[in-house]
Parts: sequence; structure tokens; C-alpha cells
Amino acid sequence: MKEDYYDVIIIGGGPAGLTAAIYASRMGLKTLVLEGNMPGGRALEAPLIENFPGFPNGISGAELIDRMLKQAEGFGAEIRFPEEVLDIDISETVKTVTTRHGKYHGYSIIIATGTQRKKLAVPGETEFLGRGVSYCAVCDAPFFKDRVVAVIGFNNEALEDALYISGFASKVIIVSHGEKTAVEEGLLRRAYEKQNIEFIDARVKSINGDIYVSSITVVGQIGTLEIPVNGVFIVLGNVPVTSIVKRAGIIVDERGCIRVDRNQSTNIEGVFAAGDCTCGGMQVATAVGEGAMAALQAYRYIKRIKK
Ligand SMILES: Cc1cc2nc3c(=O)[nH]c(=O)nc-3n(C[C@H](O)[C@H](O)[C@H](O)COP(=O)(O)OP(=O)(O)OC[C@H]3O[C@@H](n4cnc5c(N)ncnc54)[C@H](O)[C@@H]3O)c2cc1C
Repeated sequence: MKEDYYDVIIIGGGPAGLTAAIYASRMGLKTLVLEGNMPGGRALEAPLIENFPGFPNGISGAELIDRMLKQAEGFGAEIRFPEEVLDIDISETVKTVTTRHGKYHGYSIIIATGTQRKKLAVPGETEFLGRGVSYCAVCDAPFFKDRVVAVIGFNNEALEDALYISGFASKVIIVSHGEKTAVEEGLLRRAYEKQNIEFIDARVKSINGDIYVSSITVVGQIGTLEIPVNGVFIVLGNVPVTSIVKRAGIIVDERGCIRVDRNQSTNIEGVFAAGDCTCGGMQVATAVGEGAMAALQAYRYIKRIKK
């Protein structure tokens, strides 16, 4: 098994992790990013990001990530993917990160593991995954051209997804599933104005079908209803990905968000956290800001302990 040494190891290659990598490598730190999937994280799912500074006409998440990746690699950061971090040992000054491929050692660790989607937890959700059930509109909406789709959830992301899917599907039904999240007025207006988007305030009881999804059963003031649909997009928000850090003794709050101070420091010296896993702004701009701060503080920490 290979064992490599770095100044800083960044776990997660989304906007927060890649920004931390740009800063850390540009400051001359030997920098490793370990990404369990594809670099980009949830930003890859955003068809158009209109609120990231510097892009007056917006930019797709994929293009923004491509630029960040090139920038980080250009400064010398090493980015390994897909390579999921399975365990971290932060009990010593030199910390150890374990993946299936080996162990990596670093003076500092930046956790930028983002969030993962909340499950609907009803019969049919797991059975029909990939056969009508999806968690990613940008990935799967084109499969539902001229078909009927339910979007489960009432939040900004669900509205964005419904608007995107409505460009393909013949009809999109937004099912609140009891969510009453405050949503952006502009998004809601755009969804109301769409001829092929409908709203139902009900809870989903099951996703039904044979080989593929054919309907959902919902319960609400209207009673119990079986609605014929071909696709179900589940958009119920996200929970932070913090299981490995909790095991290692890093403090998280009651929602599972990593506790950090203004310098992105966790309760363990030399371990910083940035982006959605801290439940900051849950935006690219805030993830990027936290990633930059985490790298700056990691640099100061490493210079101090290496003296
Ligand atoms: C459809 C959609 C539209 C959006 N639109 C906008 C928008 O318009 N504007 C905006 O500002 N934001 C938007 N967002 C939110 C934005 O994408 C996120 O806030 C941002 O991506 C958070 O960045 P992050 O780096 O903290 O986390 P993430 O992007 O979630 O990245 C975390 C990364 O860590 C990796 N990871 C997790 N665990 C491990 C592990 N154990 N080992 C290795 N790697 C691991 C994951 O694979 C992932 O790549 C949108 C999101 C979605 C889904």
C-alpha cells in the first residue's frame, strides 16, 4: 500500500475543495484533493448559475468547475478521483487519510464534503432508482421528453429543477410532500407562469410501477390519489456528508453540520472545514469564500508548526 506525504489534504472536490486547492497550491503548499466521485460536486448539477460574481450572463456549473479544476491543477494541486476517503485519523500532528488505494499523510486537512440528498423513504424509491426515479434533473430530464414527471419537494432547488424539466416533459407536477420552505419569489413566479407546471399540496405515500415508474400515490386534503407519472425527481434538500468526521471526533451540530469558527477551524487543530458541509450559505459563492479562508488558515497553521 502506497503512503504519500502532503502539506494539506483536501477531502472533496466541489467548489469549496477546488478553491481551497487553488489557494493552497498557489501559496506553495504540497496539496492533494481526494474526490470520491467527479470533481465539481453539486455544482455540476446546476444548469445555469446566475448569482456567482463575474458572470453577468450566468455560467453553467460544469463550465465553472472546469475552470476551477484547470486553475487548481495549473498551480500544481494534485487531484485524485474517483477516490473516496473512508477514514481519517487526526489524533497526531501529522494526520492520516485512508482510501481504498492507500494512506495519505498531511499536516492539515480541509474537509469540503458538501451535502447529499435527503431520501423520500417511501416504497418504490429504491426499487425504481434509474427506472423513473432520479435525484438529478440536469442528468436525467432529457429522458423524459414529452412525458409526465413529478418533482417532489417545495424549495428553491425543486422549483429550479421543475423549470428545467418543463423544457423536456409534457407536464411537471410539483408535489410539496409537506414542505413549506420559503422560496425565491422570482422562481415561484416563473413556475406559476409555465403552462405545463402544476402544484399539488400532498404527501407521497408510494412510487408505483412494474418495470418502470407508472404512478405515485399521494395523500392530502384531496384524499388519497393515484397520479399517473413516468418520472419522479426527488428534491427534498440535503444533509451534510459528515459521517467520517464525526467518527474522528470533529464536532458537528444537531443538523450534522461541521462546527467552525470565523477562520473555518474545527475543534481539532489543523483541521478546517468549508462549504456546504458547514451549512453556511449553501451556495457556490459562499463555498468558494469558505474554501479560500480554510486554505489561508491552513497555510498559517502549517508555517507555524513546520518552523
Ligand atoms: C440543481 C442545483 C442548482 C444549484 N444552483 C445554484 C446556483 O444557481 N447558485 C449557487 O450559488 N449555488 C447553486 N447550487 C448549490 C451549489 O451547487 C452548492 O452550494 C455547492 O456546490 C457547494 O459546494 P461544496 O464544495 O461545499 O460541496 P459539493 O458541491 O457538494 O461538493 C462536495 C464534494 O465532496 C465529495 N465528497 C463527499 N464525501 C467524500 C469523501 N468521503 N471522499 C471524497 N470526496 C467526498 C463529493 O463527491 C462532492 O464532489 C445548486 C445546486 C444544485 C444541486
